[in-house]
Amino acid sequence: MPTDPTRLPSDGRSAQQVLAELRTLRETDAPTRGGRTFAYVYDAGRAELDGLAAAAYTELATVNGLDPTVFPSVARLENDVVRAAAALLGAPGTQGTFTSGGTESILLAVKAARDHARAARGITAPQLVLPATAHAAFHKAAHYLGLEAVTVPVDPATFRADAAAMSAALTDRTALVVASAPSYAHGVLDPVAEIAASAAARGVLCHVDACLGGWLLPWLRGTGHQVPAFDLSVPGVTSLSVDLHKYAYTDKGASVVLYADAELRRHQYFAHAAWPGYPVVNPTAQGTKSAGLLAQAWAVLQHVGEAGYTALAGRVADASERLLAGLRGIGGVRVLGEPVAGVVAFTVLGGASGTEPDPGLVLHVADEMRAAGWYLQPQLSYEGMPPNLHLTLTPATVDRVEGLLGDLAAALRTARELPPAAVDPGLAELAAGLDPELLGPQEAEAVLAYAGLDGAGRLPARTAPVLMLLEALPAPLKERLLKEFLGTVFRV
Ligand SMILES: *Cc1c(COP(=O)(O)O)cnc(C)c1O
Repeated sequence: MPTDPTRLPSDGRSAQQVLAELRTLRETDAPTRGGRTFAYVYDAGRAELDGLAAAAYTELATVNGLDPTVFPSVARLENDVVRAAAALLGAPGTQGTFTSGGTESILLAVKAARDHARAARGITAPQLVLPATAHAAFHKAAHYLGLEAVTVPVDPATFRADAAAMSAALTDRTALVVASAPSYAHGVLDPVAEIAASAAARGVLCHVDACLGGWLLPWLRGTGHQVPAFDLSVPGVTSLSVDLHKYAYTDKGASVVLYADAELRRHQYFAHAAWPGYPVVNPTAQGTKSAGLLAQAWAVLQHVGEAGYTALAGRVADASERLLAGLRGIGGVRVLGEPVAGVVAFTVLGGASGTEPDPGLVLHVADEMRAAGWYLQPQLSYEGMPPNLHLTLTPATVDRVEGLLGDLAAALRTARELPPAAVDPGLAELAAGLDPELLGPQEAEAVLAYAGLDGAGRLPARTAPVLMLLEALPAPLKERLLKEFLGTVFRV
C-alpha cells in the first residue's frame, strides 16, 4: 500500500498488487452480473460476451479514433455498426455516428437540431419541446447548448406523451420535439407517429429517444410481439438515438445517433481550421478517443447476431411478463402504465385510505430489498407522477423473477411495520425556506448532515430518510443539494 496517499508510490507497485486492489475495491460495488441489480447494468446472461468485449477492446485500445484517415479500421468498424443500426431502425442506408453513450447521442442530436434551426429557419432563440417524461439528458443538452426546454405534461393515467398537447406547444422557435421509445422512467411508448406528424406539418424536427428500446423492440417483433412503429420509418422522425451498452449488451461507452439524412448530420459535426495545429474535424464531443470502445461494440454485435438478439429479446419479454403478472397479483402494489418490455415501474399504496402512492413505503421497500441483496432504483414523485421503484429486466433476470417477487412480498410486509419514513418537520421547514441561489457550501453541507449524510460521500444503509427529504423539496433546491453531495463523493 502507498504510505503517503497524496503521492504516487515512488517505485511503483507490481501489476499483481494493483490488479488485486482493483478486485478488492469491486467487492463493495453492486454486482454487475447475475441478475440482482435491476438498474444500471445489462446482463445478457452469456458469460462469453465479457471476455470477447475485453479482448476486442484490447485489440484496438491504443488506436486513436480521432483520425479515421490515419487509422482506417475506425471508419470501417463505425460504418459497420451504424449500417446495422440504420437497417434495424427503419432507415437502411442512412447516416449516423457512434458515440460514447445515450447522453452524448442526445447532446449531438440537439446540437444538430439547433444549428439546423438557425441555418434553415433563422431561429436564434431555439426551443426544445419535451414530454415531462423525456430523459434528463435532454435538459442537460438544453442547458449546455443554450436552448429553452419546454416541458409538456404527459397523460396522467398512462404516462405517455400527450400528442395534442405536444403539438399545441410547438412554436415558430421550436427547433426539435422529442418522443421516447420507451421512456426511461416508466418504460412506456410515446405516440411517436402523432408527435412526428404534427412536427413535420410545422417544419419542426423530431427526435426519437430509443436509447432504451432501440435495440430491443425491433427484435421483439421477431418473437411475435406487436410493437407499434417508432423508428426512422415513421414519417416526420428526423433523428434517433439507440444505446448499444443497454440491450445490445456491449460494454459501457457505446451508442449510435442516426439522422434521416446526411445534410442534417452535417450540423452535428464540428470543424476548426483557424489555429496553428492540425485541421480539426470532429463528429462528436470528444477529441482523442480509444477505438477500443468501438471495437468491443462491433465484436459483440457481430458475435450475437440476429438470431442471438431475437432470443435475448424473447428472454427479456418473458421476464417482463412474469414480473408484471406477479406485481399485479400483490396487494398494495400498482404498476405504472403499460410498459412495452424492458423497464417496469411500480408504486406502493398506503396512507390513511391504503389506496394512495406512499413515498415512505416505496423508499422503505427499496431499503428492505437492498438489504436482501436486490437493487431496485427509487424514483421520486414529479408533477403528479407517483414515487416508484424502477426495474430493468435483462436476460439474466429471467431466473430471478420468482425470487424477487417472494422477497418483495416480504419487504412490503416489513415496510408496513416500520415507523413511517418521514422528514423531521423542522428540517423540512428549514430546507424549504432556503434559496438555492443564495445557499453557501456550509449551509448546504449542514442540511445534508442533518439529513443523515456523513460528509464522506456515502449514503447511510437506510436511504429512505434522505430520499424523503429530497421528495419534500422543490426541484431547484434538490438540484443544489445533489451537487453539494456529489462534491462530497469526489473529495480527495
Ligand atoms: C439510458 C437512457 C438515456 C441516457 O443514456 P446514457 O447512456 O445513460 O447516457 C437517455 N434516454 C433513455 C430513454 C435512456 O434509457
